[in-house]
Amino acid sequence: MENIQAFNQLLSSPKDIAIVTHFKPDADALGSSLGLAGFLKKKGHRVTVITPSDYPEFLSWMPGNDQVIAVSKDTPEPGNKAKNAIGKADVLFCLDFSNLNRAEDLQAAIRGSQATKVLIDHHLEPERFASFEQWTTSAASTAGLVFQLIDQMGEKHLIDSNIANCLYAGLMTDTGGFRHSNTTQTEFLIASELVGLGANPSKVAKLVYDTNSIERLKLTGFVLSQKLVVLPEFHTAYMTLSLPELKQFGSQTGDTEGLVNYGLSIRGIKLSVLLYERKEEIKFSFRSLGDFSVNELARKHFEGGGHMNASGGTFKGPLSEALKKFLDLLPTYQAALNSK
Ligand code: 5GP
Ligand code: MN
Repeated sequence: MENIQAFNQLLSSPKDIAIVTHFKPDADALGSSLGLAGFLKKKGHRVTVITPSDYPEFLSWMPGNDQVIAVSKDTPEPGNKAKNAIGKADVLFCLDFSNLNRAEDLQAAIRGSQATKVLIDHHLEPERFASFEQWTTSAASTAGLVFQLIDQMGEKHLIDSNIANCLYAGLMTDTGGFRHSNTTQTEFLIASELVGLGANPSKVAKLVYDTNSIERLKLTGFVLSQKLVVLPEFHTAYMTLSLPELKQFGSQTGDTEGLVNYGLSIRGIKLSVLLYERKEEIKFSFRSLGDFSVNELARKHFEGGGHMNASGGTFKGPLSEALKKFLDLLPTYQAALNSK
């Protein structure tokens, strides 16, 4: 962060702080938010963590989870509470997203807030709405950026095992278990520091990756055996999941996470896509290898974005039309998909 002295000054006396992350938060979104919240509470601030939707059960172990306000379409109460918290905040942190439309129903409250805004994020093409920014696309995770910010503030000693486990979870998952191309020496250095401060890698990995329900595992089996389509001429794999199919496996929020990576695990595949039906829209998850930018694909055609090799988007309309739109686009990307 450039203006770190002013930032330290801002947090030098107790403040009302709201931390907001993106719709359907993943481990990096929630882990960075709860890790930061734990730290700010230790500094004597009053902190509220807000998510614009529910999130997967496999994140509920994170310390501070029981105090999260999760906005829900089913009942207005959390939404009202969240908007109140944003309205009265002196300082508003936005974590792991930088296009405000990713805050869904909280977007207007964030735009209208008089709070000093702080952005901590690593996504491409951010909106510039914050007075303080800890932003770079070279960071693999927002959790890592939170760690580096705390370090830059000179307060690493305040990180305890609860905070360290939350941050470690974000770093672990956004690097795909330290396997993706965003895993650099810096990621291992941050991981090492977090372990030194009390993070427990095997415990976090077990809690995040290996607490499947039988239904989720069976959904994975169904997708791999029945729904995976490979298009060798485009070096592409895709899978679709309709609402009835998801229902058949009692699917919960988060059960589709990671499915898209199986497509990319096939030899020769450069682009993998998962399309699944939500109540109001079709959700796209894109993954790629090398220089094929799924950020551009998602941004240009599916109202989304993200990173060069991992992005997401949406489509309003039936699943069949979403798939047709995607398949019709492939020939325009054929050269890029065929390049080494
Ligand atoms: P996932 O496929 O795991 O949902 O998301 C992959 C990456 O793309 C994450 O960094 C996520 O934040 C981002 N992403 C997912 N969906 C959207 C979207 O609808 N809009 C934008 N801008 N980014 C998205
Ligand atoms: Mn992230």
